[in-house]
Amino acid sequence: FEGMTIVELAKRTGVSIRHLQEIIVNVGEKVDSEFDPLSIDIAELVSMEVGVNVRRQHSDEGAVLQPRPAVVTVMGHVDHGKTSLLDALRQTSVAAKEAGGITQHLGAFVVEMPSGASITFLDTPGHAAFSAMRARGAAVTDIVVLVVAADDGVMPQTLEAMAHAQVANVPIVVAINKCDKPSADPERVRIQLGTEGLLLEDLGGDVQVVQVSAKTKLGLDKLEEALLLQAEIMDLKARIDGPSQAYVVEARLDRGRGPLATAIVKSGTLACGQYIVVGSEWGRIRSIRDMLGRATSSGRPAMPVEIEGLKGLPMAGDDVVVVDSEERARMLSNGRKKKLEKDRLLKASEERIEIEDTSE
Ligand code: GDP
Ligand code: MG
Repeated sequence: FEGMTIVELAKRTGVSIRHLQEIIVNVGEKVDSEFDPLSIDIAELVSMEVGVNVRRQHSDEGAVLQPRPAVVTVMGHVDHGKTSLLDALRQTSVAAKEAGGITQHLGAFVVEMPSGASITFLDTPGHAAFSAMRARGAAVTDIVVLVVAADDGVMPQTLEAMAHAQVANVPIVVAINKCDKPSADPERVRIQLGTEGLLLEDLGGDVQVVQVSAKTKLGLDKLEEALLLQAEIMDLKARIDGPSQAYVVEARLDRGRGPLATAIVKSGTLACGQYIVVGSEWGRIRSIRDMLGRATSSGRPAMPVEIEGLKGLPMAGDDVVVVDSEERARMLSNGRKKKLEKDRLLKASEERIEIEDTSE
């Protein structure tokens, strides 16, 4: 997408070069030659204008990639201990201990290990959140922790979560929870998962299984080790420099500070003062805070950060892109708002047609 020329865009969208040039002039941009690369913002605006769905993709070609922490989502059946496990993990973080255990609930948190390694956890458990993010193109999760209660065993939502992870091609690490209970039967859970086709490492596969208790904190270090190992196998890397891309995991309106968005940086570095477009909203980053509420000047890959300075409230799953100027930010935000409205009307009219059809 980045550096695409008008000629290439015409080929991709099936719209004539002349028409594309007209649109570009209409959005107030100069057209030099149809062989000159377009800016990513203009390419997106023009694509939306001709009704083509686009996904921004900055090229990592020639960029310096650095190792980055994994972003993990916890999934599993209701009451199997997802929330308890996240709370317990949160408390294991070195930083959380330093800050007196007080961490904000921002939709994500980082567990820092004494070794210096860290893992980012999304705080919204459940496959609904996972699927919603994915449906909006936000492939933020690197690893899924599949929580299965050792007493209850595999249940319908366990299988659903498993299927979601597999469809998304996201590796699973199994956490058999509630192992403190007398009725716990982790061996039965292993057999059940194996029967469902999960290739556990005990059986020669590559899915790691860890026995834990969110209640007694048993095995949490083993779970963290397993996640670090999985991350190492995946060789997760990100570009640190250049245009930043991030995804919103949670957004809320603060009475004093206005719209706040927690975002996870995918690549590049977010910094104060940058103009950003978030979904169909825009703003200029006034401040960035980490999950302990500390002000920081920038956000690096896999880091959840709270961004202040947006004009409106974005939604979970929205992308955050950095643009050059306020004018660009407004333009892109307007373009996206128009596109959303168009899609909404289109959907509404389709629904109307369906209703009419069934009434006959
Ligand atoms: P979620 O619905 O998956 O988020 O599950 P919760 O975290 O809300 O836990 C459901 C219930 O199981 C709560 O009553 C927890 O206290 C309990 N629970 C969670 N983890 C453990 C555990 O490791 N051991 C025991 N004994 N109970 C647990
Ligand atoms: Mg819960």
